[in-house]
Amino acid sequence: MAKVLVVLYPDPLDGYPPTYARDSIPVITGYPGGQTVPSPAAIDFTPGQLLGSVSGELGLRKFLDDGGNELVVTSDKDGPDSVFERELPTADVVISQPFWPAYLDAARIEKAKNLRLVITAGIGSDHVDLDAAMRHDITVAEVTYSNSISVAEHAVMLILDLVRNFVPAHEWVTSRRGWNIADAVSRSYDLEGMDVGVIAAGRIGVAVMRRLKPFDVHLFYTDKRRLPEATETELGLTFVPSVAELVTRVDVLSIHAPLTHETFHLFDSALLGTMRRGSYIVNTARAEILERDAVVEALETGQLAGYAGDVWYPQPPEADHPWRTMPNNAMTPHISGTSLSAQARYSAGVREILEDYFDHKPIRPEYLIVDSGALAGTGEASYSTDGTGSPGSSGQ
Ligand code: NAD
Repeated sequence: MAKVLVVLYPDPLDGYPPTYARDSIPVITGYPGGQTVPSPAAIDFTPGQLLGSVSGELGLRKFLDDGGNELVVTSDKDGPDSVFERELPTADVVISQPFWPAYLDAARIEKAKNLRLVITAGIGSDHVDLDAAMRHDITVAEVTYSNSISVAEHAVMLILDLVRNFVPAHEWVTSRRGWNIADAVSRSYDLEGMDVGVIAAGRIGVAVMRRLKPFDVHLFYTDKRRLPEATETELGLTFVPSVAELVTRVDVLSIHAPLTHETFHLFDSALLGTMRRGSYIVNTARAEILERDAVVEALETGQLAGYAGDVWYPQPPEADHPWRTMPNNAMTPHISGTSLSAQARYSAGVREILEDYFDHKPIRPEYLIVDSGALAGTGEASYSTDGTGSPGSSGQ
């Protein structure tokens, strides 16, 4: 019997939904490149339900109860008196989503004497101190690809939102009850013909470029590893060897790198100052890739024409976090990877990982971030550590 501690975001203010806007979601049968979708033995939820909030329980209740396991679900995750902190010392498995991360820094991992497996229901395990996980031989796994297309769609939407000035135009007709066309269009442009850059051409970055190609933009990218020539030719991509050079060559930048010691605070005032005046940045990767106040300053001076994203630090951010009110922002809570469609996939993926774990079978390599004391699988391919602890894991 295992104790599984699950941290999920709170239910909607009006309560857990009794009905949904649509009756079904499309069935996705595979991912680009051939990776198969999650394949648990069974699922105990209806795809399209809200699974990521406390009452949804990621659809795990029946499976864990039937196996005689203990399931504790809470949204109370921060601070020494939180339910998460109280339950952690006796937990064997911890599961949370990046949208409402259960921060697992070295001190918390030290207290979690029984902890063997940490699962990210989604993608991005920077809320876990990966060095500490390696030292304590804890396996860290995430549901690779489960929400990559969800995020790619969202990033393309945010690029269009910023360039076309959608949010202020929407506000003119809703909260302001106006018809102020000149006000709305005086910051509105076409995306067509612009130079668009992508940092990190992984699963999400490539999906973003694939979706942007029909907009007749000029596509540039950088990554630690260059894409195959055939992909560059198919999508019309120009590879740029460094972030420093890439940012000087584009009007729009979309960030899709993991948060590691290499990307932590990569964007400071100096780097932002090298960009073309009036550039746009979309960041659906991780907030800590940019220095918080440097972004605010660049928007206030007009160096950036807009900043949009869904990732913050910490999560949830304080009520007076400056990104809530900075000029020309199109921010949302961290939602791009937790559409109802994505929730069905990553809940099934979590179930698959748990089934393998309980049956002592190997977890798919593409789901692994840390295993047997080292980076493994996707962790080995995409993450890096320097032994000093993962940035972003303390939630402070
Ligand atoms: P992936 O593993 O497929 O790709 C990551 C890419 O980043 C790889 O190609 C890797 O080579 C590259 N990379 C790593 N370090 C780099 C560096 N220092 N410079 C340049 N390139 C570097 O991951 P993915 O599925 O595309 O996801 C990327 C990130 O997006 C995740 O790590 C996560 O932080 C974020 N994400 C956000 C959401 C959301 O809801 N907003 C959802 C999923 C993922």
